[in-house]
Amino acid sequence: QVRVRFAPSPTGPLHIGGVRTALFNYLFAKKNNGVFFLRIEDTDQNRFVPGAEEYIMESLEWLGIAPDETIGKNEKFGPYKQSERKHLYKQYADELINSGNAYYAFDTAEALDLHRKQHEEQGKTFIYNWHNREKLDTSLVISAEETAKRIANGEDYVIRFKTPVDETLHLQDIIRGDVKFETNLLDDKVLFKSDGMPTYHLANIVDDHLMETSHVIRGEEWLPSMPLHILLYRAFGWEAPEFAHLPLILKPVGNGKLSKRDGDKLGFPVFPLEWTDASSIDKTVSSGYREKGFFPETVINFLALLGWNDGTEQELFSLEELVQKFDLNRVHKAGAKFDPEKNKWFNHQYLVKQNDADLAKAFAPIVAEKGFSTTLEMTKLEKIVSLIKERAHFVSEFWDLSDFFFVAPKSYDEKASKNWKEETPALMQELISVLGEITDFTSLNIETIVKDWMTKNEIGMGKVMQPFRLSLVGALKGPHLFDIVELIGKEETIQRIEKAIT
Ligand code: GLU
Repeated sequence: QVRVRFAPSPTGPLHIGGVRTALFNYLFAKKNNGVFFLRIEDTDQNRFVPGAEEYIMESLEWLGIAPDETIGKNEKFGPYKQSERKHLYKQYADELINSGNAYYAFDTAEALDLHRKQHEEQGKTFIYNWHNREKLDTSLVISAEETAKRIANGEDYVIRFKTPVDETLHLQDIIRGDVKFETNLLDDKVLFKSDGMPTYHLANIVDDHLMETSHVIRGEEWLPSMPLHILLYRAFGWEAPEFAHLPLILKPVGNGKLSKRDGDKLGFPVFPLEWTDASSIDKTVSSGYREKGFFPETVINFLALLGWNDGTEQELFSLEELVQKFDLNRVHKAGAKFDPEKNKWFNHQYLVKQNDADLAKAFAPIVAEKGFSTTLEMTKLEKIVSLIKERAHFVSEFWDLSDFFFVAPKSYDEKASKNWKEETPALMQELISVLGEITDFTSLNIETIVKDWMTKNEIGMGKVMQPFRLSLVGALKGPHLFDIVELIGKEETIQRIEKAIT
């Protein structure tokens, strides 16, 4: 059975890159009738941020990609939080010690710093491995008795993985194919610390094994950890899951990985939801996609295309469609450029697809804030929304696109006023009488009658239509003029024209 996981560390709000990882895991699981689970990797207590765990869950729920199993939900392989699995890991670290695949090390931070510095002075990078093990103060050169004594004395220790020597690993990545690593270049990574906590590497492998993870789908930044992870599976004698490392998400301009800074600088969110936790280390984090007025469908859609396409020109995909079409073999390895402008375009596509009643409901509080709540019935608001949504990316733009439905223009666009000729006031006065006599005050009927009047009297279209629009809207913008006329009604239309000609 396909079982895949999203395994974030709760160190703050979820970056959009993390959400993409969650989405690809979700799609892969659903496509293969598998299970998508969420595991919280909180072994690094120093970096733990309260509220982050809830934020992650809420984000996935908002996007419609909630996990099948997680904390408090189908806990078949629980607990799903590593700090609650603490008691599990020591035995696995011991197992590696006993099989000769790991060892105790007592190096102090100062000693390690010194070694690092010495290497740097010679222009070399310090790798904690077989090259250096023997030269270090402690580690492998100390006997088992000595080790036992130092542990008994309460000395701080770490358990390190004993990386095999002189091996070239040819590892398989679903997206990248054959990936080569030289074991001599790998660090002997710390697996366990004397405070009783495993490190990410040990906990991640133990849990993926115990939770029967079939595929590890994660960001490219974890590719360098892949050899260690494979070696750990080998050391335990466990079958390793398959691996797929997703391409980096690149900043919109220039090169390099997308960062929060890019979003702040260029004014687009990099988080799904607003991060409101006041105790956050990072107080500058504020806006999220939800609060900016993006639909979850939009976010799903643009994230899916960050590294994947279905091989056609198609750009709009619903979640259901993505589940059908998603294929890990179609994920490319080249970095995927993040395009905030295109994301707005996506939102527009989903905005026009929403039904008008829902959009009106979303718009109503904004209208109320402007002081027009009671004067408007919903059906009218729905009509307004239907007339303007073609021009909007977000509901938050509705007011600026439609304010003239609610209030008469306070000023008139200067450039457009040039069309206001000497004969205009007289023409507008005539128009007022024509409008005054219309009983069936509906768009098409008004249009027919006004146009008949113009034809009969050989009045050019521009001569009437432009000043007419200017009187109602204040500028030469907005939807079909007669739709506006119908909605604001006869009385208001006439009043606005009168105001414009005086
Ligand atoms: N806890 C890691 C993270 O924060 C998980 C990496 C993995 O998927 O193995 O991304």
